[in-house]
Amino acid sequence: MEGEWRKSILVTGGAGYIGSHTTLQLLLDGYKVVVIDNLDNSSEEAVRRVAKLAGEYGHNLSFHQVDLRDKEATEKVFSLEKFDAVIHFAGLKAVGESVAKPLLYYNNNIVGTLNLLEIMTAHNCKKLVFSSSATVYGQPNEVPCTEDFPLCAMNPYGRTKLFIEEICRDAHQADPEWKIMLLRYFNPVGAHSSGNIGEDPRGIPNNLMPFVQQVAVGRRPELVVFGTDYKTKDGTGVRDYIHVMDLSDGHIAALRKLFETKDIGCEVYNLGTGQGTSVLEMVAAFEKASGKKIPLKLADRRPGDPETVYASTEKAEQELNWKAQYGIEEMCRDQWNWARKNPWGYGSPETD
Ligand code: NAD
Ligand code: UDP
Repeated sequence: MEGEWRKSILVTGGAGYIGSHTTLQLLLDGYKVVVIDNLDNSSEEAVRRVAKLAGEYGHNLSFHQVDLRDKEATEKVFSLEKFDAVIHFAGLKAVGESVAKPLLYYNNNIVGTLNLLEIMTAHNCKKLVFSSSATVYGQPNEVPCTEDFPLCAMNPYGRTKLFIEEICRDAHQADPEWKIMLLRYFNPVGAHSSGNIGEDPRGIPNNLMPFVQQVAVGRRPELVVFGTDYKTKDGTGVRDYIHVMDLSDGHIAALRKLFETKDIGCEVYNLGTGQGTSVLEMVAAFEKASGKKIPLKLADRRPGDPETVYASTEKAEQELNWKAQYGIEEMCRDQWNWARKNPWGYGSPETD
């Protein structure tokens, strides 16, 4: 992709965990990228590091600190540049917080998305990749989860994903010019192999691996294991962990499909590895990669948690020509490399 042929992609939430890694891969693939993010759960330092990692392509990245709920400010970004497509990561994602603050979640995730879709329509930019989640499968009756499983959200966060998927389907139904990829991520972990960018959640981590990582660097005393009486190999919950670099490449594959397929419509794809790993297996892999002992406190199940969730990867493999390459050893190796080099993420002990 050279000169005037360089496609321009708007990445919402591009300062965040998955957005920063995907932005880097887009730049290295020759795309021009404009990131908008309100930095609610991220740091501008991530964007600076992405530009540096992209080397000669770094100058194709620009950043606007904008909240999607601010329609005027978002509109302004669209008036500066014509986008060929949008990858929409921006959203709040903490399940527990969504139960405590449902209106915040509906406002941020749904109003933000509606604004974005309206502005995209006004600017005749109708190609979208959206970050959905395996959470829309709720407590699946069987595994692996295929894309045609019944959908059922267990909490307000999950409902925002479900509603946005429906909004996208309706938008496409009403206007077939829309081309939309709904990507259902399983459990993204790991970091870029440089260890310069990675996951840095604000406050106490909700997800397993960021918590494990903080125990390893001494920021938390122990990992609380939620549930040891599941009907799984060792009693702990089973998930489909996917390396964030594989996930990022899945977005590039989805974009390519959007650009290359005439009548793509609104399609949904799982992005996972198809492998189920238990909490204890994940902890063991991380201990091996880091050489650190992770003290455990065995506790009751976390309400609403499904027992076992992993993806059927067939549709993405066949239609996107994409397949995850990395296993849990590489995920833990790269997560530890990031943690070791950045024990306080992008911040410092004072900002913890
Ligand atoms: P993240 O919090 O690191 O990134 C999201 C980014 O969006 C943050 O930088 C945040 O500041 C920004 N943001 C939030 N609301 C915004 C708004 N109104 N306007 C502008 N920016 C806003 O999270 P992530 O892990 O990178 O997740 C990215 C997307 O993928 C989210 O939509 C999330 O729900 C989805 N997802 C994540 C996971 C996961 O486990 N990480 C799993 C499935 C789906
Ligand atoms: N988990 C845990 N302790 C934690 C966080 C998570 O035991 O502090 C377990 C959780 O019960 C689940 C697995 O780790 O079985 C993955 O949880 P996570 O929140 O990362 O992903 P999700 O449940 O949303 O798939």
